[in-house]
Amino acid sequence: MNDARRSISISPRGDAFRDECGVAAVFGHPEAAKMVYLALYALQHRGQEAAGIVSVEDEKMRRHAGTGHVAEIFREEALQALGGTHSIGHVRYSTAGESSRDNAQPLVMSHRRGPLAVAHNGNLVNAQEIRRRLERVGSIFRSTSDTEVLLHLVARSRAEGLPEALCEAIREIRGAYSLVICDQRRVIAVRDPHGFRPLSLGRLEQGRPVLASETCAFDLMGARFERDIEPGEVLVIGPDSEESSLFPLPKQQPHPCIFEYVYFSRPDSRVFGRSVGDIRRALGAQLASEHPAEADLVVPVPDSGVAAAIGYARGAGLPFDFGLVRNHYVGRTFIEPSQSIRHFGVKVKLNPVRSLMAGRRVVLVDDSLVRGTTMHKIVTMVKDAGAREVHVRISCPPTVSPCYYGVDTPRSEELIAANATIAEIREYIGADSLGYLSLDGMHRAVGGEIGEFCAACYTGDYPLAPTDFGRDASQDEFGGSGPEDLRQPGGGAMEETSG
Ligand code: AMP
Repeated sequence: MNDARRSISISPRGDAFRDECGVAAVFGHPEAAKMVYLALYALQHRGQEAAGIVSVEDEKMRRHAGTGHVAEIFREEALQALGGTHSIGHVRYSTAGESSRDNAQPLVMSHRRGPLAVAHNGNLVNAQEIRRRLERVGSIFRSTSDTEVLLHLVARSRAEGLPEALCEAIREIRGAYSLVICDQRRVIAVRDPHGFRPLSLGRLEQGRPVLASETCAFDLMGARFERDIEPGEVLVIGPDSEESSLFPLPKQQPHPCIFEYVYFSRPDSRVFGRSVGDIRRALGAQLASEHPAEADLVVPVPDSGVAAAIGYARGAGLPFDFGLVRNHYVGRTFIEPSQSIRHFGVKVKLNPVRSLMAGRRVVLVDDSLVRGTTMHKIVTMVKDAGAREVHVRISCPPTVSPCYYGVDTPRSEELIAANATIAEIREYIGADSLGYLSLDGMHRAVGGEIGEFCAACYTGDYPLAPTDFGRDASQDEFGGSGPEDLRQPGGGAMEETSG
């Protein structure tokens, strides 16, 4: 800090916490890495901390990765250097492992079958346990990422081919994983048996396969959506464009993450077979029926609350308007004058339209309250802009439990709804009334039964025990082969640049 100005960091969305990740892959395209770049561009909302692309040309694997946004990391030159016809990519916001360049994905390792790259969306719940076992028998890890555990398991497998080794590795890991993987000849897509995170298959012209976390990536690439990768499916593409699906694990009841609908995915995506935008409007309409308000105007908290607010306004028969305007060009740090400005962090992103707010009874709609700090500042701002009353409506139930499957929600101690009653929260945020959508209402709007989705952040019912985070890890010895140092890229088959 210097005495005249101070610099503060602000995450692009929400004050203090972080998203998960997005993955993409292309097979059999002359500009595969450029197509993956487009996909990552469309998936930027899923992670703004780091991004990376791996491509394979003449059996040589190249990687370019860096911290920051996709557009900053990949300049023309870097993309030109990523030649070849198959490629995978990743955007990251750390959920497990520290946020460092070492943890940027795709992770690449070389082993006796050649180089291997993996990009992972989700979070393994037994990675620490496996890692300890592997370290005891000599494995050396170069990152703190849970994904590296998977690479070690694949490398240690005695199975001949990559698909078989991968199936063996998958039998060891538990948790949330939507993966895209490539070696010198293939691209492989994997989705865990619970199907926590999305992963879809699309087609470019001439039937070339593409994979992405969300279908909005297909729209930018000019691909058409074909189907979701099924929970538990391992789809192997290549070497001669043939495609085959394996199901190495027993079938389980899938539990796709309901929070993808509430907040994560883009409203123009189709996720788990349904339109995210349609669902958000239905969540808003349901909220209006559960928590009507005597008000003059419905205002969304942009961007996350827009679709739900439209649904609320329609459901309630109230006028809708953009009473808060968002600055879309906000970077990650700001220089603030030494005489600090009240609620600077929120003000720099959002500004109220006084002519809309003055003298009005306003319903403010957002998708979630996590710590409650953002909403406290917004309500203050809206009241300062002259609103007569502010009624806050949240298009999901109270967030009471952390996520162990890839969404970086804070610990319970920091979740306002885990520690305060609705009346106390209303008082803290300074609203005239506060209404959350019910658990039943959320499922009705989504069009599913309770139990069909993972809604652990709202219920504390975890479909899969979070071993690493709860009870002691198993002390079983790992019965693999001898020590192996996988850190060295093999035989000149790997090249790496960073942005
Ligand atoms: P808070 O101030 O902690 O209550 O943050 C609430 C705001 O964060 C809301 O505007 C949400 O749209 C947004 N939000 C909710 N979940 C997440 C998440 N996992 N990552 C980033 N932002 C989020």
